[in-house]
Amino acid sequence: MPELPDKREAFIDWYLAVVELSELTDKRYPVKGMNVWTPYGFLARRRLDRVMEEEIEATGSRPVEFPALIPETEFAKEKEHIKGFDAQVYWVTRGGTTPLDVPLVLRPTSETAMYPIFALWVRSHQDLPLNVYQIVNTFRYETKTTRPFLRVREIHFFEEHTCQLDEARASERVASNLAAFGRMAARFQLPYLAIRRPDWDKFPGAFYSVALDIPVGGARTLQIGSIHHYRENFSQPYGIRYEDPTGESKFVHQTTFGLSERLLGAIVAVHGDTRGVAFPVDIAPYQVVVVPVPSAKGGDPTPFARELGEELRRGGVRVHLDDRADRPGAKYYYWESRGLPLRLEVGPREAEAKTASAVSRLGDRRTISRAELVPGVRSALAAYDDALGAKARSAFAEAFSLANTLEELKGSTTVRLISWCGTPECGHRIEEAIDGALLGTLEGAPPIPLPAPGPCVACSRTESTVWSAAGRPL
Ligand SMILES: [Zn+2]
Repeated sequence: MPELPDKREAFIDWYLAVVELSELTDKRYPVKGMNVWTPYGFLARRRLDRVMEEEIEATGSRPVEFPALIPETEFAKEKEHIKGFDAQVYWVTRGGTTPLDVPLVLRPTSETAMYPIFALWVRSHQDLPLNVYQIVNTFRYETKTTRPFLRVREIHFFEEHTCQLDEARASERVASNLAAFGRMAARFQLPYLAIRRPDWDKFPGAFYSVALDIPVGGARTLQIGSIHHYRENFSQPYGIRYEDPTGESKFVHQTTFGLSERLLGAIVAVHGDTRGVAFPVDIAPYQVVVVPVPSAKGGDPTPFARELGEELRRGGVRVHLDDRADRPGAKYYYWESRGLPLRLEVGPREAEAKTASAVSRLGDRRTISRAELVPGVRSALAAYDDALGAKARSAFAEAFSLANTLEELKGSTTVRLISWCGTPECGHRIEEAIDGALLGTLEGAPPIPLPAPGPCVACSRTESTVWSAAGRPL
């Protein structure tokens, strides 16, 4: 079996090797940054989509799907937004051989596709809130080095767009999105940092942006999602207004919530180890693989293995029977490197005793009897998921440390937590010292226990400082 690069020392090399080994994607497609979803990768992606759909629909959001092409005239309506995306869009300028009167943008995100239509859908206060989402592919002409799932040009994208009565209601939607992401992340066993980006780093056109970041070794971080409050920044240029109960016409306040296939990259990055990927139970393409282990002396355990597989399938477990003519050891390695949570080994002795030997991706081994098959497997899966989560939470806590001076930020080998006075001047000095980014101010629970904020790490001012994080975004 191939030796993987060290995850701590050479994260990106390790990541690329693990993705390659797991066969989640094929990056040999002849357009850079546009990768093929393999059958195994597609199954994982579909599970991620299901979790996002379930958790966002539980908050009253409904699915929609807007076209992928946006007229230049609509795309250009919000000045900051177009400034932020101009260099990244693909253009469609011809229909067949005929130049188009109005060139079309291949969506990089869907504000400018949706909002002209929202202006038609929203008429009165009774049409609010409007909470809709779509999971579609978006396109960005990425000029930096592309990496599977982390930085691609065709992105599998979840985007919620909402219209609310007023600024306070929009802030409540931001909080509701944060809570929904918390539930998704719990299902992914993924600890994360919710952080309000500084003004100079917010989404183009946003009033403010809350990012969801994870540490990925050293001081490096990866943004895996974001939630934005737009106030009236888009509703004014797009004319999304409603009549309030007194008959007054008002602009809606808007929010968006974006996630992408980066989540799959994050799951690989956080849970993967020296043997490959490790999937949480909710995302795993297969939760259980049954491996018949024939022996020269005994009979063929395959019929009993198949029986177990069928019973698990009826019990709602995502199960696969690996009856390929290959050595059992090779199969164990194959499934471990692909992140399988639990394998059932079934030899003649197990077939005789009506049991299976269950081995988790983290090495826990137990015997499950045929009579207790489904509850036994469920309990082994739950124990594996808990252990995976505990391992991730402990690595997460170790990824942060406090810094009290700019000097201490230099050469940081963890993400740093600092007190910051909130001024751009100090923010930029912090970024220079860490040679990275001021990620923003903490929202919600801190990643490690923190005292009250102290003096600003850059100017020593003590009034109105807040806990902030600094690191080196990938
Ligand atoms: Zn300061």
